[in-house]
Amino acid sequence: MRTLLNRYRQSIALHLLLVIFGFYFLVAILVTVVQLYKEYENTKKEFYEEIQTLPATFGKGISDSVWTYNQELLQSILQGMYNLPIVVGVKIESLDHKMDMQIGAVLNEQNQVDYYDSKGQPSEQKLFGLGAKSLFDHEFPIHYQGPAFKDDIPLGKVTLYSNDRLVFERVKYGFFLILINSLIKTFALWFIIYFFIKKYLGRPLEEFTHKIRQQNTQSPQPIDLAIHWTDKNELLILKDSYNQMIQRLNEHQHELLELNQALDEKVKARTHDLELAKESAEKLAYSDPLTQLNNRRAFFDYGQRLLNLAFRQQNPLSLIMLDIDNFKKLNDTYGHALGDQALKAFADTLKNNLRATDIIGRLGGEEFAVLLPNTEEANAINIAQTLRQKISQIELKHEHSSIQFTASLGVVESKPEDSNIDSLLAQADKALYVSKDQGRNQVTPYSEISASTAMNEIG
Ligand code: GH3
Ligand code: MG
Ligand code: MG
Repeated sequence: MRTLLNRYRQSIALHLLLVIFGFYFLVAILVTVVQLYKEYENTKKEFYEEIQTLPATFGKGISDSVWTYNQELLQSILQGMYNLPIVVGVKIESLDHKMDMQIGAVLNEQNQVDYYDSKGQPSEQKLFGLGAKSLFDHEFPIHYQGPAFKDDIPLGKVTLYSNDRLVFERVKYGFFLILINSLIKTFALWFIIYFFIKKYLGRPLEEFTHKIRQQNTQSPQPIDLAIHWTDKNELLILKDSYNQMIQRLNEHQHELLELNQALDEKVKARTHDLELAKESAEKLAYSDPLTQLNNRRAFFDYGQRLLNLAFRQQNPLSLIMLDIDNFKKLNDTYGHALGDQALKAFADTLKNNLRATDIIGRLGGEEFAVLLPNTEEANAINIAQTLRQKISQIELKHEHSSIQFTASLGVVESKPEDSNIDSLLAQADKALYVSKDQGRNQVTPYSEISASTAMNEIG
């Protein structure tokens, strides 16, 4: 029941069918009822007319039998009338009441129905169906017209009764035909409408829906429908509009895809630029622009990491600090440009004489530092001596002379307790100032001054 209701709700054909059928059915019933009523009226009129012909047939016999007081004859005449299919009762009222007689259903003075058998005796109610309530009557007088009398002599009156049921009995067959006719018409119309709505509207719509549901949303394709007639009907217009929409959608999608690709490439290029900018910014932040060495910040950063690693792996690590001797004088005498040249040559000398794993930094001005992983003090002192020598061999061209300079160095090997780069640098700095104090252009290991400090303290 429920599924049937859903199918009704979901199907245009069924819905239309029921609405059309419903209205048509109402109209058909109305027309049929009017038709039946008219038929009934007509038949009733025919009844009256038929009843009115009866006096001509039976009047003479009745008046003769009343005149001659022939009860038997009168009774048989009444029985004959009563047997007519349009009569349900006959009543004779004679003026002297000697020949009064009733057969079948008749009305008494109180207008109630009394029943009499064929002998004229009162009886139980017989089956008259609708009869009792719907009796209608027709009266006609009876006269005697004997050869001995000049005028008619009134004898009384005859009342004939008929009823609606008899009328109905007669039109029943006609009614039945009319009903069957309208029912057949209604159902035929019903099926025809259902079939064609389904065929021309329901099926194509179903097919359309099915094909739309099956569309690939990434690239929807135009749809074709198996429609039975090819004039521009609403369905075809709908289908064409759908296909146009799909086409526009595809075009837009294509444009969007291209736009996306262009955007993608732009983003890639931007990202690349950004990476380069970041790299150069990092370089700038971490390197000294004049010498291209690590700046102070980078040296502290990398240095601390190297120190931590050496400590963890229990490897030796040494630090050399370097400061150019009398650099101020060099600057003052030959100019700032030559000073810069000296700084660059100094940096190059460091780079060229150290390993790739060593970390070199310019800490500021003409002050440099070198971290040597996996290097004990003795080895570091050797390296420092080599550097000192190489630096003293640098020759700078100035006008027609060549200028040379020296540097002082301090060396220190990290101890397990030197866990930070600052304290290691402070120690190397101390050693470096001992070198300066003792006349410059020399290398001082921190272990020497700490030992002598210790000696002094003991002394
Ligand atoms: P000492 O032997 O005691 O180290 O004497 P010094 O003259 O080298 O020491 P001081 O610290 O007095 O002088 C350092 C000079 O370095 C001062 C400054 O003019 C110079 N200087 C610092 N940075 C630069 C630079 O980038 N370029 C040049 N040309 N000179 C610089
Ligand atoms: Mg100096
Ligand atoms: Mg200095």
